[in-house]
Amino acid sequence: MAPVLDIHLAREELRRLYGFPDFRGKQAEVVERVLAGESTLAVMPTGAGKSLTYQLPATMLEGTCVVISPLIALMHDQLRSARANGIRAATLTSADADWRETLDAFRAGELDLLYVAPERASQPGFRDLLGSAKLALFAVDEAHCVSEWGHDFRPDYRQLRPLMDAFPAVPRLALTATADAHTRADILTQLGIPEAGLVVAGFDRPNIRYAIRPRESLPRQLARLCADNPGPGIVYAPTRRKVEQLAEQLAEATGRPVLPYHAGLPPEVRAANQAAFVESEDMVIVATIAFGMGIDKPDVRFVAHAGTPKSIEAYYQETGRAGRDGDPAVAVMLWAAGDFAQARQRIGEVEQARQQGERQRLDALAGLVETAGCRRAVLLRHFGEDPPRSCGNCDNCLDPPEVIDVTELARKLLSAVYRTGQSFGFGHLQKVLTGSADERVSSKGHDRLSVFGIVEGEDARLLQPVARALQVRGALVQTEHGGLALAGDARDILTGDAALLMAKPPERTRSRSRRGEGTPNPVGDPLFDLLRELRRDIAKEAGVPPYVVFHDSVLRSLAADRPSSLPEMAQIPGVGAKKLEAYGAAFLKAIRDN
Ligand code: ADP
Ligand code: ZN
Repeated sequence: MAPVLDIHLAREELRRLYGFPDFRGKQAEVVERVLAGESTLAVMPTGAGKSLTYQLPATMLEGTCVVISPLIALMHDQLRSARANGIRAATLTSADADWRETLDAFRAGELDLLYVAPERASQPGFRDLLGSAKLALFAVDEAHCVSEWGHDFRPDYRQLRPLMDAFPAVPRLALTATADAHTRADILTQLGIPEAGLVVAGFDRPNIRYAIRPRESLPRQLARLCADNPGPGIVYAPTRRKVEQLAEQLAEATGRPVLPYHAGLPPEVRAANQAAFVESEDMVIVATIAFGMGIDKPDVRFVAHAGTPKSIEAYYQETGRAGRDGDPAVAVMLWAAGDFAQARQRIGEVEQARQQGERQRLDALAGLVETAGCRRAVLLRHFGEDPPRSCGNCDNCLDPPEVIDVTELARKLLSAVYRTGQSFGFGHLQKVLTGSADERVSSKGHDRLSVFGIVEGEDARLLQPVARALQVRGALVQTEHGGLALAGDARDILTGDAALLMAKPPERTRSRSRRGEGTPNPVGDPLFDLLRELRRDIAKEAGVPPYVVFHDSVLRSLAADRPSSLPEMAQIPGVGAKKLEAYGAAFLKAIRDN
């Protein structure tokens, strides 16, 4: 008698195939539904392990799971990982030469997974092909592409419903990391999944450490980050020019491999740089936000923003590319008051109807940057969750800033802005306030204003952070000519109806090295380094990126536990049967010999 396909059996298969001790988060719930033949929309954050929720059932159910995926690069990435775990998978794309074998295998019922793009899936011939074999499941990856509300609408996704409707007995599993309720509801309708099929996982990414701080010297701050985090990293820069410039500076300052990525590069260079990054264990890629979609590199150890992101959603998505393998990773945002000032100015230029929404978006981001409390709590609350007050894994939780009341100083600065005619930049205002008259100050008669020289001592050092805080909050905006002008609730602060509280900036004399910014891969531990070398050789020979062989966490456990037999090695999370068989002996030997 065939065994009952339930979650217990699935857990056994999970251990055998992937070597993972248990399901994570909502995986079990989704897998259970799939095995029971129920259609599901799984909303899970990046790195939660969405692919496993269809791959694993695909190996257990009779017939093939057809996976719709929007990008060839994504499909091939999935294909490599699935095959490395001994899953029978194939892709049908323009880049494949083995169509005949794939079609034969599919018709003979010898495929667990068949990946196709929506464009192909919507062709009539494809429906006939599907009719020629047994189907286990339709898995629709990046399912938000079906919705015009989402940010990546793909018209061909709309053809999936009629295709799937032609096979009413086959359950559907749609997967996305997109948060908002509107898009979710739309996906359910567009793909014909009942409302009861919605499974939403939390948005927390506990292994990502968030840090947000003012930009002082970009090259120096980034070089420091690279030094603290030897693994692969992404630096997001706002413009192509900035990308080129930073890539050069970082290559020089860090001695690490650094490559640029932006839409202005020839397509073949872009593709080559992306491929090199995916394969690498220590590369830094400096990129515009065009980079990242469709890259499933699990071992990205840091994501840095050299400019302020567009919104909290964008920030979450971009930082989410770090630490998909669940190992510690860091996300560092380096912001400048000018980023916010410019963004506020741009809002004035968009059509009236969109302005309020844009303003709310920016205010939310400002709240994240300004907070003296837990960053993660701000993020998760933004996504409608009710997180604990403190996470213990962000800059503010690890090193709580002192909150100071700077209302008085803010008032002095705002009056200086007002009295000088709302057309001068911060440098000039600073001179006026601290009483350092230069020619420009005297020629304008600003040394005779009541605000001249009213800020001294410790307060003078706080002027810049206060100006920043006022801009983030929108009480100061930049004029067309780069001057500062009053806006928002500036008047309330001047009249004493609003206060300005701020996280106390760190002392300048304090050591620049902040604790806790490195990730804990024991690079420099001879055995770990050696195992990495072995992994590199195996990967090269197999023509796959190193992480397909084993994740860093596996190497770390191997170096720490020093297993001496295959059964011992099998205990390590991430070592499945296929990989144990393929690589076990080589790794055990390396451990024994060292
Ligand atoms: P997503 O598509 O949701 O962003 P992936 O499917 O790429 O995430 O999985 C992210 C990583 O998590 C992968 O490297 C995968 O091997 C790992 N993973 C998935 N499920 C588990 C699990 N139950 N236990 C440990 N690691 C897991
Ligand atoms: Zn925190």
